[in-house]
Amino acid sequence: FDPSSLLDDLVPGMSPLEGATPGNVVTRFPPEPSGYLHIGHAKAVLMNEYYARRYKGRLIVRFDDTNPSKEKEEFQTSILEDLDMLGVKPDVVTFTSDYFETIRGYALYMIENGLAFMDDTPQEQMQKERMDRVNSKHRDQSVEDCKKYFDLMCSGDEEGLKWCLRAKIDMSSVNGTMRDPVMYRANHLPHHRAGTTFKAYPTYDLACPIVDSIEGVTHALRTTEYNDRDEQYQWIQSALGLRRTRIHAFSRLNFMYTELSKRKLTWFVENGYVTGWDDARFPTIRGVLRRGVDLKSLRAFILSQGASRRVVNMEWSKFWAENKKEIDLRAKRFMAIDKTNNVKLTVTNAPTAEENAFISTDFLPKDPSFGKRHVRIAKDVLLEKIDVEGIVEGENIVLMRWGVVKITKVDGDNLTGEYIPDGDFKAAKRKISWMADVKETLPVTLHEFDNLISKAKLEEDDNFKDHINPNTLATTEVIGDAGLQNLQKNDIIQLERRGYYRVDEPYINAEKGLQLFMVPDGKSKSM
Ligand code: ATP
Ligand code: MG
Ligand code: MG
Repeated sequence: FDPSSLLDDLVPGMSPLEGATPGNVVTRFPPEPSGYLHIGHAKAVLMNEYYARRYKGRLIVRFDDTNPSKEKEEFQTSILEDLDMLGVKPDVVTFTSDYFETIRGYALYMIENGLAFMDDTPQEQMQKERMDRVNSKHRDQSVEDCKKYFDLMCSGDEEGLKWCLRAKIDMSSVNGTMRDPVMYRANHLPHHRAGTTFKAYPTYDLACPIVDSIEGVTHALRTTEYNDRDEQYQWIQSALGLRRTRIHAFSRLNFMYTELSKRKLTWFVENGYVTGWDDARFPTIRGVLRRGVDLKSLRAFILSQGASRRVVNMEWSKFWAENKKEIDLRAKRFMAIDKTNNVKLTVTNAPTAEENAFISTDFLPKDPSFGKRHVRIAKDVLLEKIDVEGIVEGENIVLMRWGVVKITKVDGDNLTGEYIPDGDFKAAKRKISWMADVKETLPVTLHEFDNLISKAKLEEDDNFKDHINPNTLATTEVIGDAGLQNLQKNDIIQLERRGYYRVDEPYINAEKGLQLFMVPDGKSKSM
């Protein structure tokens, strides 16, 4: 009996981890605190969490903070918040920067054992030598010289800025990542955690295999584009006599019309194309939650992608269509009418405004357990112009949730009608939204977003700045029924016959109005 077999079906099709036994698995998610988490990171962390739980093991979240030029406290804090929002509970949070002394020790070990050398070859030339598989002129440097320059680099000496430490692996390897990769380099910027203690930092390539081994990671999950680096990772663990880690590859998650590189997302923030990292147009965790994805469907969707090793270029429409299934089950229904393009209908036999009359209707017709709401009715009601085009005298229409009204007079934008108490719903061809024309209606702004990128799939040689969508936000002013003023931030509702919306800013006063963000339902064009 293999207890892990019980977990095989947690996510259909998710492959087992090689060599894993329950209780002996440690995985880790290693974000660099150089930006906010995005939907691709969500896949990485949820996969790690999935395997840790499936094998009753441990999940480490480790800040891969080895580069002070890109990293900030702000990002570190936001990543922890984002993990919390995602519902991920790491067993421990660690920092590569806590191992800087240890890693420096390993670098010295490499130097002393002829496994590394110091190099001052200019970057461009180094690149060229890598391409041409030519050894650096310093490759056969003595241990003494190597130590001397390493110390100059680590002590913050100006001369040390020119030098970096390179592993001595194999310049003739067919695998470019084995051609004497850089292991350590100078950086005089203060580190957001370590301050000014260090003047040189290990690269991710050196730090990762060391810290994975020290922290007891059994399975390092890496995206398939790291495949080439696996050989280097294993070389380092083996050269340093470290406990070996198994590597488990999974595919990167990409989306059409979307940039996921942190550097490029930073550019959008810094150049004002978005209001911040939590902009609803952004593929960040914050962005998609703000756009209106439900947490449960977000997690389910991402894990359902986890099973595949193919690098997928997802369509947002699939993502939002899954989300719609979930939110449709609990989005309370309301009505709203376009603020300007409307006409007035006088229902002669309806109560006057002074009579304060209401009808009672289910929040969710499909599920009465959500309770009822009261909708104001009155003699004067507003209808959307587009809904009454071509309407003729004598026609019966349905005012949704209220009933049948027979149109008795059409006079431009003024209609007159009569409420028919037991009118035949089915016989009427127009079933339309309406709003009692009373003081208690609410000003509502609807925000509809589009992709920031106008090209479905950006190629290597595309500059994303040439494919920026100039129009990514459309707003519509509507009038909503008074019940909308009780909504809380993040509530998801449906405006009948318009779509699903998330409350971005609840109603405080008429001047600010209610701010609703449209939640894509997966049906519109490029979404
Ligand atoms: P950059 O955008 O600067 O390249 P990064 O995406 O590599 O940064 P990290 O913080 O280093 O950001 O990533 C943390 C983890 O998330 C890594 O294990 C990385 O492989 C994984 N990851 C990043 N992007 C994706 C993606 N699109 N799909 C799946 N996993 C991803
Ligand atoms: Mg990275
Ligand atoms: Mg990357």
